[in-house]
Amino acid sequence: MQKKGWGFDARDIDATTRPQDDFYQYANGGWLKRNPVPPHESHWGSFLILRYDTEKKLQELTAELASMKKPRTGSPEQMVGDFYRSGLDMRHRNSLGFTPLRTWLDRIGRIHDIPSLVSTIAHLEKIGGGGPWGVAVDQDMKNSNKYIIYIHQSGLGMPDRDYYLKKDSESLRVRTAYEKHIEAIFELTGVTKSEAKKHRNTVMRIETDLAKVSMPKEELRDVDKVYHKMRTSALVRLTPHINWHSYIKIIGAGEVHEVVIMQPEFLKAINAMLMNKPIADWKTYLIWQLVNGAAGSLSEKFEKQSFSFYGMTLSGTRKMKPVWRRVLRVVNGNLGEALGKLYVRMHFSHEAKRKIATIVDDLFEAYETRIKNLDWMDNSTKGKALKKLHQMTRKLGYPDKWRSYRGLVIKPDDYFGNIVRASAFEHKFTMRRLKKPVDRAEWLLTPQTVNAYCSFGLNDVVFPAAILQPPFFSIDVDDAVNYGSIGTVIGHEITHGFDDQGCKFDGKGNRTTWWTKQDHARFIKKAMALVKEFNAYKIGEGLKVNGQLTLGENIADLGGASIAYDAYKLRLTKTGRKDIGGFTPEQRFFLGFALFDRENSRPEAEKTQVLTDPHSPGRYRINGPASNLPEFYEAFNVKNGDKLYREPKARAKIW
Ligand SMILES: [Zn+2]
Repeated sequence: MQKKGWGFDARDIDATTRPQDDFYQYANGGWLKRNPVPPHESHWGSFLILRYDTEKKLQELTAELASMKKPRTGSPEQMVGDFYRSGLDMRHRNSLGFTPLRTWLDRIGRIHDIPSLVSTIAHLEKIGGGGPWGVAVDQDMKNSNKYIIYIHQSGLGMPDRDYYLKKDSESLRVRTAYEKHIEAIFELTGVTKSEAKKHRNTVMRIETDLAKVSMPKEELRDVDKVYHKMRTSALVRLTPHINWHSYIKIIGAGEVHEVVIMQPEFLKAINAMLMNKPIADWKTYLIWQLVNGAAGSLSEKFEKQSFSFYGMTLSGTRKMKPVWRRVLRVVNGNLGEALGKLYVRMHFSHEAKRKIATIVDDLFEAYETRIKNLDWMDNSTKGKALKKLHQMTRKLGYPDKWRSYRGLVIKPDDYFGNIVRASAFEHKFTMRRLKKPVDRAEWLLTPQTVNAYCSFGLNDVVFPAAILQPPFFSIDVDDAVNYGSIGTVIGHEITHGFDDQGCKFDGKGNRTTWWTKQDHARFIKKAMALVKEFNAYKIGEGLKVNGQLTLGENIADLGGASIAYDAYKLRLTKTGRKDIGGFTPEQRFFLGFALFDRENSRPEAEKTQVLTDPHSPGRYRINGPASNLPEFYEAFNVKNGDKLYREPKARAKIW
């Protein structure tokens, strides 16, 4: 992936397209043509390729550990190496079939009334075994110095409630395949075809009822809609058929007086469903949740069946990933920081950390100026915004303090057992936080993850080592490309702290209202322009981008690119301008920007994306902001009549 020259390969350009008509195609057309989606993938582009490259580095590391003669038991080397080996031993996994689930299936088999049903749901929660609701521990949104339990809706096997409820052809296609998948999984557990059909009907009835009372995804991103703090006594009154005292005790949360219910209506409906549905149906449903969730860790037959729905139907992927990639993902997910520590030692330099720190500084400076110049924010609000900006911390590369996995038992010949023990270990770790002060140094992603985030509660922006690589970032390329690409990612994350949700949190991470009503009204009006624009973007088969669902991300993309551009201009005053490869500095910035989300997608994957993902497809993440940015018009001389042209007053500008 390391590119020679200035960081943008001239072969990537499609010279038959004018940048003013379709900038995404112009900047990436050559690349898109040369890089079709490989059979094992559903998308292929900047993020995915970097993820794949990182996996290969991790594989080298892991394979080396797995071949070590006698590492000390309990050391990161032993745990990572043995976990990996246990997963690769497909012969052993095949010989076990689904017997590793026996203890859990027996437990479900012993359910005979609502209390035993609820306590089994609690036991399954400890190993991530599925159930109609789930729990998480996070900072209390209204008291950011404390952790609290969040109880949230869950329990669907398809990625969104719409798949159960809608009648359009895409929902029907997926639903029919899902029904077949349920039958096939049950058949693999040894039941007859006709029993499997009966079970399928039961599962679909329960999940469809859950879907009906699930909060829609557009509302899930509204932090106020998902925050309902109550005393546990009030929760007991709200849902009297669920014995919360016993539930909380089993999950190991200790003494709990208050909880946050994310969807009270959902829980109320479950409470009624517990009474209305036969216990036998709930048992079938829990077996389904357990086996379906575990399918990827059992024998090859189960893995293949799981892939046929989640890989092929939902994403159009043609071939299952090789076993090393499937297992690596699991090891990575369960021993993330053990692996991460070894990873950064080999693949992240001090020089890279220094360079990225400079870019982040420039971005913060540019954003500060933008905030001061906003035409829609009151002066007093601007003061508060700047205060929050100054309090925002940045985490670059990897954590200062690494997590310990002491006490976790990993065996070389017990893949499923390793997964269960690791999940239980993680669950305990999470529950223990309830008794501890908030850890502000904590990372929510591992350093080997190709992604970034902004946390409202911790008021930080986090850029793991793995995203600080080409095509996003390199110490060897032209600044314009770095600022256009990783600069946009950084700006994107910073603006999340100030968008329609981020603006609900102050610099300490507490839910407060620091915008005036007028600020809010003016912001919404500006945001509506983006909703309209994105609602008009089409993908195949009559589907369109959902402007409301993708609004937060679209604001962040537009803001991120604007701030990154200003930051680059700041840098230019220090380094001086020159043309490279026939492009001005500003043009190179936008070429770098176009790199940040170029991707080919399979049609199935693109459909799933627009129906469930708050991020717009790559083409619109580039062309959308470009068509709104006067800086882009200037760089490429966009004129009335060009396809990307919008009337000046129709252009969205927020930051
Ligand atoms: Zn985002």
